Amino acid sequence: MQRDYLSASAINLFITCPTSFYLKYVLGLDTDETDLTYANYGTLVHNINENIANGDYFFVEDAIDEYVAGFPSTGMPMDNYFDEGIEGIKKHWEFCESPDIDIIGAEVKFNIKPFDDILPFLGFIDLVYINKNGDLVVRDYKTGKPYDENKIMNQIQPYFYSEACLHLFGQLPKYFEFQFPRFDEVRTVVIDEEFMEFNRLKLKGIWKQIENMTLKANWNPFFCEHFCSCRTSCPLWQNKKGGR
Ligand code: SF4
Repeated sequence: MQRDYLSASAINLFITCPTSFYLKYVLGLDTDETDLTYANYGTLVHNINENIANGDYFFVEDAIDEYVAGFPSTGMPMDNYFDEGIEGIKKHWEFCESPDIDIIGAEVKFNIKPFDDILPFLGFIDLVYINKNGDLVVRDYKTGKPYDENKIMNQIQPYFYSEACLHLFGQLPKYFEFQFPRFDEVRTVVIDEEFMEFNRLKLKGIWKQIENMTLKANWNPFFCEHFCSCRTSCPLWQNKKGGR
C-alpha cells in the first residue's frame, strides 16, 4: 500500500472497482485527469456547512454570500445546483440553530486502529450531534441525489464512522444520517451491535481480498470515463479502448 491508513473513500473505491483501488492505492498510479467539478462543489458546500455548525457566521446571509462567491470556481454551470445549494444552506442553518439538537463537533477527525491486522482508519466526520432524545447521531453530507436502499446498504461510511465514534466518545451513535442538502432529504441507518458485527466481517473480507489481490475490474462507463484516475493503466480500459 502507498498509504499507511484506510479511508472510507478508499474502501468505497474498492467496492466500486477493486482494480481501480489496486492501481491507485497499492501501485500509486493516480495519473489520469478526472472530472473535479462535483468534488469542487462538494468541498464548497462541506466547508460552508462546517462553518455554520461551528457558528462562524453571524447571519445565514453571510454563509450564502460565501457560497455565491465560491460557486463560479467550482466549474459547475449556473443550473439547478446553484439554487438548490442556497436552499440547502438555509436548511442546514435552521437545523444547526435548532434548540432540539446539541452539536458535538463538525469535521471531527479520527485516526483509530480497531484491528491489529488491518491498517488504521483515518477520516473526518461531517457532523456529530445529540438529538432531542439524547441519542448520539452522525451526519454525512452528500451533494448528489438521494441514495436508494440498495446504495445505502453498500456504503461503508455508516460502519466506518460509527467505529470512530466508539473510539472517540466511548459509544456507538444510535443513527447515521446521509443528508442530501440540495434535496432537503435524509436517509437514516440505525446503528446497533448486529450492524457493527456484520460490517466488521465485511471489512475483514475486503481486507483479505486486498491482501490476496483477488481483484476484479468493474466496468462502469460513466465512472471509468470521469472518475477513475488510473484508467489508462487498467487492462480492461486498454482493451475496450483498443489499446494494448
Ligand atoms: S477504468 Fe474502470 S474498470 Fe478499469 S480500473 Fe478504472 S474503474 Fe475499474
